[in-house]
Amino acid sequence: MARATASPPLAAPALCAEDDARRREPEDVRRRQLIEATIDSLAEVGFNASTLAQIARRAGVSPGLVAHYFGDKDGLLEATLRFLSARIARDTASRLAQAHGPRARIQAVIEANLAPEEFDQRTSSVWLAFWGQVLHSARLRRVQKVYQSRMLSNLSHALRGLVAPQEARRLAISIAAVIDGLWLRSTLSATGETSAAGALTVASAFVDSQIAAAVPAGAKGSAMTVPSLHRNHIAGAYIEGSGRSFETRNPATGEVLAKIEIAGEAEVDAAVAAARAGQKVWAAMTGAERGRILRRVADTLRARNDELARLESLDTGKPIQETSVVDVLSGADCLDYYAGIAPTLSGEHIDLGPSAFGYTRREPLGVVAGIGAWNYPLQIACWKSAPALACGNAMIFKPAELTPLTALKLAEIMSECGVPDGVFNVVQGFAETGQMLTRHPGIAKISLTGEVGTGKRVMADASATLKHVTLELGGKSPLIVFDDADLDDAVSAALLANFYSAGEVCSNGTRVFVHSAVHKAFLEKLVARVKKMVVGDPLDPATQVGALISPEHMDKVLSYIAKGKAEGAKLLVGGHRVTDGALAKGAFVAPTVFDGCADGMSIVREEIFGPVMAVLSFEDEDEVIARANDTPFGLAAGVFTRDLARGHRVIAQLEAGTCWINHYNITPIELPFGGAKQSGLGRENGKAAIEHYTQLKSVYVNLGRVEAPY
Ligand code: NDP
Repeated sequence: MARATASPPLAAPALCAEDDARRREPEDVRRRQLIEATIDSLAEVGFNASTLAQIARRAGVSPGLVAHYFGDKDGLLEATLRFLSARIARDTASRLAQAHGPRARIQAVIEANLAPEEFDQRTSSVWLAFWGQVLHSARLRRVQKVYQSRMLSNLSHALRGLVAPQEARRLAISIAAVIDGLWLRSTLSATGETSAAGALTVASAFVDSQIAAAVPAGAKGSAMTVPSLHRNHIAGAYIEGSGRSFETRNPATGEVLAKIEIAGEAEVDAAVAAARAGQKVWAAMTGAERGRILRRVADTLRARNDELARLESLDTGKPIQETSVVDVLSGADCLDYYAGIAPTLSGEHIDLGPSAFGYTRREPLGVVAGIGAWNYPLQIACWKSAPALACGNAMIFKPAELTPLTALKLAEIMSECGVPDGVFNVVQGFAETGQMLTRHPGIAKISLTGEVGTGKRVMADASATLKHVTLELGGKSPLIVFDDADLDDAVSAALLANFYSAGEVCSNGTRVFVHSAVHKAFLEKLVARVKKMVVGDPLDPATQVGALISPEHMDKVLSYIAKGKAEGAKLLVGGHRVTDGALAKGAFVAPTVFDGCADGMSIVREEIFGPVMAVLSFEDEDEVIARANDTPFGLAAGVFTRDLARGHRVIAQLEAGTCWINHYNITPIELPFGGAKQSGLGRENGKAAIEHYTQLKSVYVNLGRVEAPY
């Protein structure tokens, strides 16, 4: 997994979107009119007396037309509740946009929910009618749950700027309860116990008193001493489980960020059962409906980019200057891309002569499991779940145990945005939890991102139940710089190919082959730029190289540096741990460049997954192609040359799944990504991923008689 670039904005799609909106206008007006008629009916005659026929009469249309738009009475009521809840969400969002600082953001949530119009007779009687029915209708319950989680998430997000993390969620629940309680008492009280203004005053005073009593944000040791426990997210909620847990730490400081409950057999079984039930609901929706929900998830990820990027930096040690522009946004791009593809999925018609025809149905696989690596945790969760969900599957995702936090946020956001319960679940744990997924008979497919060895074990385990398997594995990729290359660009690419995410990128071009004619000039430019790179606190926007994922991984990287020196490579820059000031507590390694490398050295043959570049010299094209291919890996490759014919000729001969000419590590969502040889099976992203999350059903349709020779 690597960096992604957003495509440049295009004028044409924007125009198409406008045209589309215009075409939909009359339909939207009609839907709105029917929803308003429903609100009037609920306000005047109550829930039981509001029938489809009665609402149609009120709107001056036929009951058939109402059924055309909403299916049945439940569909109409669900749409009406969604409408009311979206109105509050819009009001909240516009107030949040004006609010400066966390306390003002909490006030924005309170004011939107206790706005005078929420207390008027028509609106409040409709809300009351709905709440009375929520217990009896799964559809209404889902909308209500989204409304509640949205309020909780807005409050928790704001509170995290004011109180210690372990207090934020508890306090958010109390404030939400006070808001709902005040509204309810006020609307039910015949004596007008509380006015809208009075409710606002009471809620605000409550918030201030609670914040004053709580442990303040950033209080020394607060997160260290009482790390909050994060549970597995199954069927749209955090579920209480075994109680066995592990700690996740910030690799830049060693600080414990949270405790994570481990999913055992019972939790995995519960996740599979929830996923099976959720998948049926999800697959029964149209592609357009699924796409609409996934687009909401993408929008929410973008809106919460800062918060999520910060969490990813804390959990991975990657610099905020990367996570804030790549990790979350690349995940959102992927969701947007597959949201667009969802309505286009289809089979084909096959002409079989005058008395028969055939057709194919492109169907989901069912329940699929995603198992992630630790280098791009949220991005990997999105890259796997977006195509899986677009195709109508349900997913159970297991993040790497070193980076469990942002997948849980994704699960919360999916639920808030209306993904039905059970369609995206997160189970936590070590390899054993992963194995429970790969061996589970209720799971149809495994998509793993991890090491080659893990890939082999996963494939072996999955074979017992003949699961579909896609594997995104490791690499030791070549970057070839010919003598006619633009050397400044080639150096930029070599830096991106080795030091982005402190070198923890699977597709990295860690074998940099440079033509002997430009070898010296290339190294001069390279070393000068590496010396200026800023290693530091991942949360400092000036930091370019953050921490490695763990002290154990740092030791592994340092041991490769020692091997490089021992095997005779020439160290040009870096080659040591960085321990200046506070960095001494973390896993920091200086960007390192070795020259004079030979093909047989350990640092040239094995994946290091750290900031260590090996530079090799070559003389001609055939020689460098043969040397570049002399590896069991085949994930990626790059070529720098101004001779485009040579660029294409060389790329065609390189044994790699993902290649770049005159660039490196750019992974737009539109382009399939994956490995050849032992670097993987299958592809992520692009239309190619659809093949891995669907299966074809062939149907023969006879139009004539059945001839039988008996
Ligand atoms: P690992 O292979 O160690 O782990 C990957 C995931 O698999 C983790 O969630 C891990 O759980 C789980 N796992 C481990 N053993 C098993 C098993 N027997 N059955 C089921 N699940 C298992 O990889 P890393 O997390 O260390 O990630 C680094 C590797 O990932 C590198 O080799 C890198 O090249 C590769 N990678 C490949 C990418 C690609 O797209 N091609 C992208 C990013 C990374 P736990 O962590 O809890 O042990």
